[in-house]
Amino acid sequence: MKKEAVIAIKELLATPKKIAIVPHRSPDGDAMGSTLALYHFLLKENHTPVVISPNDFPNFLAWLPGAENVLIYENDKEHCSAKLQEAELVFLLDFNALHRTGEMEQVLNKLNAPMVMIDHHQKPDGFATYTYSDTAFGSTCEMLYNFISFLDKTALIDKTIASCIYTGIVTDSGSFRFPSTTGTTHRVVADLIDKGINNSEIHNLLFDNNSYNRLQLLGRALQSMKVLPEYKTSYIVLSQKDLDEFHYEKGDTEGIVNYGLTIKGIHFAAIFIEHREENIIKISFRSQGTFDVNQFARDHFNGGGHINAAGGKSYDNMKDTLKKFENLISKISI
Ligand code: 5GP
Ligand code: MN
Repeated sequence: MKKEAVIAIKELLATPKKIAIVPHRSPDGDAMGSTLALYHFLLKENHTPVVISPNDFPNFLAWLPGAENVLIYENDKEHCSAKLQEAELVFLLDFNALHRTGEMEQVLNKLNAPMVMIDHHQKPDGFATYTYSDTAFGSTCEMLYNFISFLDKTALIDKTIASCIYTGIVTDSGSFRFPSTTGTTHRVVADLIDKGINNSEIHNLLFDNNSYNRLQLLGRALQSMKVLPEYKTSYIVLSQKDLDEFHYEKGDTEGIVNYGLTIKGIHFAAIFIEHREENIIKISFRSQGTFDVNQFARDHFNGGGHINAAGGKSYDNMKDTLKKFENLISKISI
């Protein structure tokens, strides 16, 4: 982050302020972890922060300290809009294009308060007043740890803040196995453990909280997997009927796409999930090696993300979406 930006933000934070903190729509562990870590940090600094999420967060993140105070824009647009309008400073975490907040974009666009963006996705669109953007980082939470250190406030990181930061690092790094995990990542985590987090318990809360229905849905997903060895590609399909049958809850499909990549010789995996209410097919892409799924999602499926992990959506029906996908991959080299 530029020195001038740090100085300006320090000045803004020198007096108590009403501060809104916003994650992207359908927030994941990194979005929730970073916004709540910042929330607790700002509370300690005598500000009045509020986390406003565009829509609800998955159940497996409900244990995060402060999650009960998160406002959900979709559930109370008037109150959330008022909170955004009265904010004297706005933090936007784990996304870099305003449309990632869905409908909230219209409210955010009209705000006059200075905005700080902290994010690790490709191609920031430059809407914020101050930007800390670096695609080399595996998570926004690791960047938030740095951000707190830029403010010379690392000493304020307590067990609560550390638990939130750890959650984002562990979820976005696939439990420290993705290539973006560095020595520094581990050194940050070492410090978080020294601050008293219970890393083993956090793991349990995040990953060993399956419902029977979720595992059955996973079974259905794996059964649906199609493998195209000639294109080093595999994909999974879940229809709305599948979701209904296993009483889908937010978060139930998290991580399923990764199974496709565990097949020997497969370098590109996708999952297509029908969301009939929104009339879209939600897609996740994962790759191993140099195939850039961020670019693929941007070019063909209204999305984006990182080189090895991206998401997107299709407004066609499932049959046409899959036809388009198969056609595309037959023409590119993976
Ligand atoms: P997931 O497949 O887990 O939803 O997302 C993978 C990565 O791509 C995450 O970092 C997520 O923030 C990003 N991503 C998912 N959907 C979109 C999208 O529609 N647009 C952009 N720019 N990024 C996305
Ligand atoms: Mn992230």
